[in-house]
Amino acid sequence: MSLQEQDEIRVGGRPFQPDSALSDRDMEPVTGSVEVQIPAQELWRQFSKPHKWPRWNRCFFWVWNRSLQPGHRLIWIFQPIRWWYLYKMPAVARIVEVEPESKITWEVTVLPGFHAIHTYFIERIDEKSCRFGSWEKASGWSFRLLRKFWLAHFRFVLKKSLEGVQTLEKEYLELKADSAGIQEKRIRWKYVLLTSALVLLLAIGGIAGWLYLTYLHPEEIRFAPGVTAILNGGSNTLVIEGDERALIVDPKFPPASTWLRKWVSKNVNAPVQTLINTHYHYDHTRGNAEFPGARVISHSRVPDFMRESDPAWWSAIPFALPDDLIEKGDFQLELGAVQVTSRAIGPAHTQGDLVVHVLHPDAEIVVTGDLFINGFYPFFDLSERGTDLAGLISTLRWLADEYPNAIFLPGHGAPGTASDVREFAAYLEHLYVGVQRVAQEGLSESQALSEVKSRQWNYHFLPSFHRGGLCFATATSNVRWAYQLITETVPPDHCRF
Ligand SMILES: [Zn+2]
Repeated sequence: MSLQEQDEIRVGGRPFQPDSALSDRDMEPVTGSVEVQIPAQELWRQFSKPHKWPRWNRCFFWVWNRSLQPGHRLIWIFQPIRWWYLYKMPAVARIVEVEPESKITWEVTVLPGFHAIHTYFIERIDEKSCRFGSWEKASGWSFRLLRKFWLAHFRFVLKKSLEGVQTLEKEYLELKADSAGIQEKRIRWKYVLLTSALVLLLAIGGIAGWLYLTYLHPEEIRFAPGVTAILNGGSNTLVIEGDERALIVDPKFPPASTWLRKWVSKNVNAPVQTLINTHYHYDHTRGNAEFPGARVISHSRVPDFMRESDPAWWSAIPFALPDDLIEKGDFQLELGAVQVTSRAIGPAHTQGDLVVHVLHPDAEIVVTGDLFINGFYPFFDLSERGTDLAGLISTLRWLADEYPNAIFLPGHGAPGTASDVREFAAYLEHLYVGVQRVAQEGLSESQALSEVKSRQWNYHFLPSFHRGGLCFATATSNVRWAYQLITETVPPDHCRF
């Protein structure tokens, strides 16, 4: 990158000879070149726009020409060789040769007794660098007359031209560094984005996996020969096979109910003759449609509740509505060795609940429907068909006392024991008593949230579709719903079944 004056200039490996027949006696050429870290074609790209020369080559004040065509005129105005000299010298030249990326020559002939020839040249060194040079010589009587001025001027042009190209080099290297920096930043951003996308995908995958395993993945639990619980995919289900017929308690809702029917046809050898619905909620009952011809047992209020809450669904498949109704007391069925007792209770989770007691020689099971939810915050039915909190709590305690050794199959969650049922009843009572106190003190629903804390139970939230929307049973929504039930301030847009 040294700025040097050279006697011999080489272009493309050959000694450089401008096309001119200038007499040697007038002057030695003013010439010099500089090596710059710019590819030859890139420097030419900058150089071949003469109207932009004044920006980097400070010997020019102004240039008229945009494209360096042979034969074209090149008109410009020079800066003075000292900035404080009060002149701007115009000049007119004719371009005599152009070799793209290599050299350009013009001659100045308009001044009387003055003939100058000026070449700029670019010599490629390698991929990244080149040599830029200027060669100038003049002759004629008017040149000789002002020889000192002209030589100073030519040296000024040479110096400014070489400095200018070094300015271009600096700009080029900075730009390259910047674009490398930008590139690097882009790569960094790409990396960050890719990593975030991956993390997000993993998180979504993880959440989806957890949701699937927690709420959807059907899980079989065999309590005794012919007595199998199928958890998740809506409500929990109990399938009982015996005496050449089968019975299903709470056959879920689509699509899990379709999966259930397929499972039954593969694993149960007897026809499904009986369905039992523990209560009217869709996630326990819509699957009735998968077993046409089966009798459907429920609490006597359930068919009306179904028609009221879900008219479109049930009017299309009236055969799937319960037809064997229990208003009070027990209804018993024998399936071989299995004794099945449906008992009308409540009001508790709804105004029409059944619990199903299953007695097999090897196992005793109580199917509670949504009276008991194991490990999740429960839904309360806020409609007039719905939950009676005090009734629910006392029913749960009664069940735990009545069947102390039974397996309790909850409406949602894993099977539990009488002790789990009591624990759940304790949670509900904590909620009920807490919210009742808050309500009696005249506090608002929002105040109830800060007064009644139930995090100690640490249940999972429970999602459910209600009227096309997704609702979540959580610690917070449980306090709100309890408050609304107790104070009878249920909003019209509540999570209705
Ligand atoms: Zn329910």
